[in-house]
Amino acid sequence: MKYQSDRVGQIPPYLFAEINKKKAKMMESGVDIIDLGIGDPDLPTPPHIVEKLVEEMNNPSNFKYPSFIGCTEFRQAVANFYQRQYGVNLDPETEVLALIGSKEGIAHIIPTLVDPGEYVLIPDPSYPVYRMATLLANGKYHNMPLLKENNFEPDFDLIPEEILRQSKLMFLNYPGNPTSATVDLSFFEKAIQFAKTRNIPIAHDSAYNMVTFDDYKAPSILQINGAKKYAVEFGSLSKTYNMTGWRIGYIVGNREIIKALSTYKSNTDTGQFTPIQKAAAFALNSDQSCIQTHNAIYKERMNAMLAGLKSIGIQVTPPKGSFFIWAPVPAGFTSAEFVTNVLEQTGVILTPGSAFGPSGEGYFRVSLSVPSERLYEAVERIKKNIKLEIV
Ligand SMILES: *Cc1c(COP(=O)(O)O)cnc(C)c1O
Repeated sequence: MKYQSDRVGQIPPYLFAEINKKKAKMMESGVDIIDLGIGDPDLPTPPHIVEKLVEEMNNPSNFKYPSFIGCTEFRQAVANFYQRQYGVNLDPETEVLALIGSKEGIAHIIPTLVDPGEYVLIPDPSYPVYRMATLLANGKYHNMPLLKENNFEPDFDLIPEEILRQSKLMFLNYPGNPTSATVDLSFFEKAIQFAKTRNIPIAHDSAYNMVTFDDYKAPSILQINGAKKYAVEFGSLSKTYNMTGWRIGYIVGNREIIKALSTYKSNTDTGQFTPIQKAAAFALNSDQSCIQTHNAIYKERMNAMLAGLKSIGIQVTPPKGSFFIWAPVPAGFTSAEFVTNVLEQTGVILTPGSAFGPSGEGYFRVSLSVPSERLYEAVERIKKNIKLEIV
């Protein structure tokens, strides 16, 4: 008897499994773990959004199957957000689709656009779902290396011609996880030009669109003239409003792609619970000052951690977005060696860059998901217990 398909069988073991096992063991023996590995905000969902959910939970008409494409209020709220934030007009009927978290849409857009054996162009390093969902769809992926000297932007000219000919989708992600890189509109202009000349649609993952610092405002790829012909954009309430567990996101942009994805989805799932969609619409439509509050907290933590890293000889340019620090591994270690040493000697969990693709080797990711005091403590432990060549 065969208990898994070849498609599932080819998925490599979960890269964090080893770390999690060690973490559990160390916690059992009483080690005070500082977990800077998880990309999940520690801050709570703002109370006005929770209260709206409770109110909608008291309305029994919300208990039925939700609409496939998302309730009108939610799709309209996403369209309002695009108008307000980017000056982009969206038809909430045809250019907005609700998702059960953006991860769900990212995974399902691949079989929607890509047939077995065809290619997906993937940033390297990046969010592992792009890669794994491609494998699950029996597709192939081509890694586009993101290098520091190119501001972690892919060089489209380096993609081999025969791969371009078989590519049916390209993923981009800014502010980026794990690199924390940000771009301005001129990069999206270049990307749309590429999509147009090569006939390859672009899916831009904007999960961190509102997690930005100082005067930087992350652009939308849909701000480029004519972009709707070539691109879709994923968005999520998860990181903006600390709603990761609520599972609510959206895709906007090209209506043909959205229609095809909704065909796929309507035969796979039935949409997110209506009270969650209505509370999410409320979050997008109400006072946005909670975003400033969250970002100020991340900025303070970012400064604390950057200063701490500097004190142990690790220099990182301050990111303009995301709640990650993408830092070079000290001389003499691979990513995995460094992260394993730090965990074993200090109880601090970091993520090895190599977990996000081959070009992540030589880096580690710090998630700013704990208060500043704990970040200082993490640095102190590393300073005390890891022998580093200070340059
Ligand atoms: C967190 C994250 C997502 C997933 O967000 P959900 O809407 O919670 O599924 C997507 N892309 C990136 C890059 C992320 O870091």
